[in-house]
Amino acid sequence: MENLRIPGPTPLPDEVRQAMSRQMINHRGEEFGRILEGVTVKLKQLFQTKGDILLLTSSGTGGLEAAIVNTLSPGDKVLAVSNGVFGDRFAAIAEQFGAEVTPLRFEWGKPAEPDAVRRALHADPKIKAVLVTHNETSTGVTNDLAALSSVVKEFGKLLLVDAISSLGSIDLPVDKWRCDVTVTGSQKAWMAPPGLAMVSVSEEGWRAQAQAKMPRVYWDFTRARSSLEKKQTPWTPAVSVVFALSVALDMMLKEGLPNILARHARLARAARDGVKSLGLSLFAQESHASNVVTAIAAPDGLDTKKLLKLMREEQHVVLAGGQSRLDGKIFRIGHMGWVTGEDIKTVMSALKVTLPQAGFKVGGS
Ligand SMILES: *Cc1c(COP(=O)(O)O)cnc(C)c1O
Repeated sequence: MENLRIPGPTPLPDEVRQAMSRQMINHRGEEFGRILEGVTVKLKQLFQTKGDILLLTSSGTGGLEAAIVNTLSPGDKVLAVSNGVFGDRFAAIAEQFGAEVTPLRFEWGKPAEPDAVRRALHADPKIKAVLVTHNETSTGVTNDLAALSSVVKEFGKLLLVDAISSLGSIDLPVDKWRCDVTVTGSQKAWMAPPGLAMVSVSEEGWRAQAQAKMPRVYWDFTRARSSLEKKQTPWTPAVSVVFALSVALDMMLKEGLPNILARHARLARAARDGVKSLGLSLFAQESHASNVVTAIAAPDGLDTKKLLKLMREEQHVVLAGGQSRLDGKIFRIGHMGWVTGEDIKTVMSALKVTLPQAGFKVGGS
């Protein structure tokens, strides 16, 4: 069997795969209503929120678009914090819909600095919302969302969070950290297939929604909320993915959020220690290295394309390369969702064999 170690989609437990094979049911019937309601209640526990949670049938990016078009109007000023591919993507969506975006970029591999956000908000009091990526999957950096949020709220701004790869595996108490819209995706920490974006909306988020004039139909949160009151979604949802997510959420609640968070922290440490003991260096600043994906700087001489190919074809371990300008410069190990210590060990043994074949002499122990 292949060891799929990319930062989403992530492997599915057998129970979740079985849930996917269920016959279709009426998505406007009572049974589906009960499942949808159950999923929403379970998600609230894992989002650590008492606010609303909406299920959108889309990948995570659809959720990011929904966050923008439901809270902003064309011409609104937005501060887009970015330290990688996904931060840039969030900014680009806002820009495309007519927001006036001020980018606040940080070096890739480094975390976003709360003080720089404070200075930017001081410099332009007209800024209405701040976009933040909690875990920047492209570089393996987790931003300090608690600190960023407290700066954003010091200025009373709206906080829109891309938590696609963090929620459910890295601590993110949505209410405590006053996130107004928080977006995640079913194929990351949630042990479910791709197809659903799950989005929380705060009271302040709803107030912004009532004023926001960006065009929206499919993504309209008001429609989603009024359908949810009838235990439905406005449009036909990805029914099979909802079945799967429901079972995965039961498994997650059984393990317990604190245990899930601790497991990810422990496995991430094992991954970082493992690659360092092979003589490799982390791409991310270690103080902010992610618990769900480890990015490794490609040393001189290492052909990352060859490495990934050999790992896949000969070791049956699938790793991720670098995106955009990090192509060929880094490779990444995903460790989110359904992952164990054995999985990390398998990756390390395979790397030990494969790295020399791809041009890097394994050092250390
Ligand atoms: C995976 C990911 C996305 C993109 O999600 P899709 O489901 O591919 O649309 C966006 N942001 C982050 C941080 C991600 O990890």
